[in-house]
Amino acid sequence: MSVTVSFQGIGASPGVAVGHAFVIDARKVRTPKVKLKPADSEAEVMRFKTAITLSDKQLEELKVKLSTGAENEHALILEAHRMMLHDPMFLVEVTRLIKEETINAEWAVRRVCRRLRHQFDNLDDEYFRERKSDIEFVADRLVRNLMGEVVDQELEVPVGAIVVAHDISPADAAMLVKTNRVGAFVTDLGGHTSHTAIVARARDVPAVLGLGKASEGIRSGDTIAVDGRRGLVLVNPSEEQLSLFRETMRRQLATEALALKTAELTSVTIDGVRVRLNGNIEFADEIPSLLAHGAEGIGLYRTEFLFLDRPAPPTEEEHYQAYKAVLEAMGERPVTIRTLDLGADKVPTNVKREKEINPALGLRAIRYCLQHREVFRAQLRALLRASVHGNLKIMFPMVSGISELREARSELELCRSELSRQGVPIGRRVPVGIMVETPSAAWIADRLAQEAEFFSIGTNDLIQYSLAIDRQNRDVAYLYRPLHLSIIRMVQHIVDAGKRAGIPVAMCGEMAGDSALTLVLLALGLDEFSMTSGQIPTVKRIIRSVSLNEAKELLGKAMQLSTAEEIERYVKSEMDKRFAAES
Ligand code: PEP
Ligand code: MG
Repeated sequence: MSVTVSFQGIGASPGVAVGHAFVIDARKVRTPKVKLKPADSEAEVMRFKTAITLSDKQLEELKVKLSTGAENEHALILEAHRMMLHDPMFLVEVTRLIKEETINAEWAVRRVCRRLRHQFDNLDDEYFRERKSDIEFVADRLVRNLMGEVVDQELEVPVGAIVVAHDISPADAAMLVKTNRVGAFVTDLGGHTSHTAIVARARDVPAVLGLGKASEGIRSGDTIAVDGRRGLVLVNPSEEQLSLFRETMRRQLATEALALKTAELTSVTIDGVRVRLNGNIEFADEIPSLLAHGAEGIGLYRTEFLFLDRPAPPTEEEHYQAYKAVLEAMGERPVTIRTLDLGADKVPTNVKREKEINPALGLRAIRYCLQHREVFRAQLRALLRASVHGNLKIMFPMVSGISELREARSELELCRSELSRQGVPIGRRVPVGIMVETPSAAWIADRLAQEAEFFSIGTNDLIQYSLAIDRQNRDVAYLYRPLHLSIIRMVQHIVDAGKRAGIPVAMCGEMAGDSALTLVLLALGLDEFSMTSGQIPTVKRIIRSVSLNEAKELLGKAMQLSTAEEIERYVKSEMDKRFAAES
């Protein structure tokens, strides 16, 4: 009888799966180290250049294979790998080592890559640590090509298998979800922002990453149970454990089936109040899942993710292609594209910045764009060009005052006139709105509503800034309370200002998708809620089973209470009375 072993990792994509392990060969590429005769170094440089050309061609081919429709985002990642190959510093350094130290190309590639990786070592940031794997993938490809080994071999993964690996390259992850029904991903490296996590979430495939050395202890064929929410992996679980996992899987499938059934139903209360339910996305891949779960549009497309995985900012054309793909995939449905929210925890590799003491209060989002006009303009021009392909709305993040909105709008107008002068087709006028996510914007919402065509409340930041709680800091996480009376009052104030000015008010922070809060938000009078796809069906079910009056009564009583704990307790007890049996 086999012994059960359990591993705890990072739950990077939710869901439960049970299946047989398919271990992807984690064998490291062996790097031969050879001292050359000085006379041979020119030929060695040529060999290196040939391997670059070959690697570039392979990546291009892969990109073409993956660039149909929703896989476009992976193509962008592969493009980033191509750019690393052509990085002048990299080419010069490898060539220098080959010539000056008379070493073979494989060795020189490894040494330069090792140095590059070390530069990331001291950065205490998950995102940067992940980028080290990208350098490794590019180096492996080059070394394999130098040695004449096979690369990009298609993996024959059995349907439903649990793919186990030390790490999975973006190319493999994208190919795997495209050609197979992977049951789950289990890897030693990686975390929330690694490509495997993104690909897995977009395809609703459970994933547990960052497991240390788990792959060494798992053999192909082992029975594996994966809980992608808790980050738990059991190898050869007992019958009892297996039946618990299978039961959770059954429940998940039933919920999913129900979700798909409600997709076509309208989101309306029993007394006829219509609330639009939209989806939040980071990548175009998420659209099929959004539509399957009944999203009526996209309430928040976080475009900064286009920036994070690359050595240089995207070109206007790359922006344009990304937005075109999303707009076309959504057809007539509205798509709210948020301009760059870089800064704070989202900083791309290509941006060298001084470390800020308070990054959340620093140069982020609209502030960053207004100081980097060339970056902003490329995005705005692309948005205007893409507007011919669908129902676009443009949204500016982190607006803290009227001047920022005016400046951003005037930049947009400049881009519009420039494009018209150049004879570039642009769509009809696009609604321009703002995220209300700073307390200052909340308190001047009446004035902002005169100049913005819609509001979307970003509660993730609004709570952070209002309650003075760093949303990344675990020590104060207990104070992060969406039902703090100040937050409820602030949302009420924003909604009222929007209504008086006759503009729609949406909410796209995490609070919007929390089904425990649906009645409170309904009573506050929001026109739209925007959330991740999996949350839509439950929120819709709640909306369809209550009346606005009932919600208002609940909110009225909740607002009589004083502490966040009291309000939470009261709202929970009311929700349990109505919906406990369903959850
Ligand atoms: C928010 O702040 O609520 C929001 C939706 O934006 P982000 O989470 O991207 O900061
Ligand atoms: Mg925000």
